[in-house]
Amino acid sequence: MPSKRNFLLRVLLCLTIIVNTAPATSRASDRKINWDEVQREALDLFIQYLKVDTTNPPGNEIHAAAFFADILKREGVEHQVFEPYPGRGVIWARVRGDGSKRPIILLNHTDVVPYDKEFWTVEAFGGAVKDGFIYGRGAMDMKSLGMAQFVTLLTLKRAKIPLKRDVIFLATADEEAGGMKGAGWFAKNHRELIANAEFLINEGGNNIVEPDGRVAAIGVGPSEKAPAWLRLTATGEAGHGSTPRPDSSVNRLLRALNRLLDYTPPIRFTPVVEQSFRSVAPLLPDRQAEKYANIREAIKDPEFLRQLDSDPFARSVIRNTISITMLQGSNKINVIPPAAYAEIDTRLVPGEKLDRWISELRGVIKDDSIKIEPILSFEANASPTDTELVAAVSAISKQRYPEAIVAFPVLAGFTDSHYFRDLGVMSYGFSPFVGSQRELGGGYHGNDERIGKKSYADGVKFFYDVVERLVR
Ligand SMILES: [Zn+2]
Repeated sequence: MPSKRNFLLRVLLCLTIIVNTAPATSRASDRKINWDEVQREALDLFIQYLKVDTTNPPGNEIHAAAFFADILKREGVEHQVFEPYPGRGVIWARVRGDGSKRPIILLNHTDVVPYDKEFWTVEAFGGAVKDGFIYGRGAMDMKSLGMAQFVTLLTLKRAKIPLKRDVIFLATADEEAGGMKGAGWFAKNHRELIANAEFLINEGGNNIVEPDGRVAAIGVGPSEKAPAWLRLTATGEAGHGSTPRPDSSVNRLLRALNRLLDYTPPIRFTPVVEQSFRSVAPLLPDRQAEKYANIREAIKDPEFLRQLDSDPFARSVIRNTISITMLQGSNKINVIPPAAYAEIDTRLVPGEKLDRWISELRGVIKDDSIKIEPILSFEANASPTDTELVAAVSAISKQRYPEAIVAFPVLAGFTDSHYFRDLGVMSYGFSPFVGSQRELGGGYHGNDERIGKKSYADGVKFFYDVVERLVR
């Protein structure tokens, strides 16, 4: 567990099958749900799901889609499976509401990152349960949340809860590689299946649990930083290494990169970033709380700014960032190449514009002969926080964790939510799994990735309650 301050800062920081399209609304609704049974089944399904190897690359998410499809078929839930690229699967399912409110999408990705066998004490796709934990690649990121969403859909359907909105379950491929072959593909090609959706819940929420187990904050993530991955190309006269050229492509590139290394992008407080600081202020001691509540003023104090900047997570939320990650010059030691390249991972604070950022970088590099091209970028967008969805999370969270506040973290990384924010769907990161770092073990992408059985079971119910409140 990191120190409380650090932790708070960190937080700021086609094959088509359609079955039974009848609305799930029913007067004879509201049969009592047997939660022991639901949670037992949720555990059983989760273990089975963890056994589906969806390591990306190559992904093979079609197996995950088939896993869900089997169950949906049995349950008579309307669904479609897509295979946009060989082996890559996307599954969409819907339980219909009466249409008096707009649909909600439960979004999750089925792919997981690779693992290194050497560092794991259990089979990564064995579905092991031991000492109160469920182990497996994806146990945290994000098969647990995917299954909580799935169980929510099944439970609403089986209990014949009268729904005001359609509930759409969407499990996609390729998130770990940017989502172009999953959520990105779906948002582009099947908008009709999510038309008019109002809300979306995805990964990307952080909760704060104190070392003593007290739940301090439930996070609802309205926004994330956006990647602006750039390729820099320097050109110059080619030649023999024995006769150096001061203006060679490699030298020009290195000078440009050095200027970037020496550059600290200015602080850019957009409303969503300010809000994320303000939202955690109540958790801090008075003087600190005041600063967080008025962060724009507070950073005028150099000592406070120094503190903020000393934390990589806080730093990454208040500024655009630059990481130089890939370099390429000559492929032979005695050849001065005509071109040299660097790829840099820059990230933009929500509200920033790519064009403006590139011209800022041009000003820093001070060499117009260097070409700057975007490789991957998207709008750094945000969703509002005065919405019914946020109110639903707050209300349920108040019942479960009366002392916890609701915080609005801005993610330093990114998820698939941006594809849907671009379509006008208000999208949020929310994790119903609330526990200590030990309880939510191994971390995202970590070794021996695991989740406590109790955290998982409680989370399934928490998630259901939030969705039910939004759809009734
Ligand atoms: Zn993820």
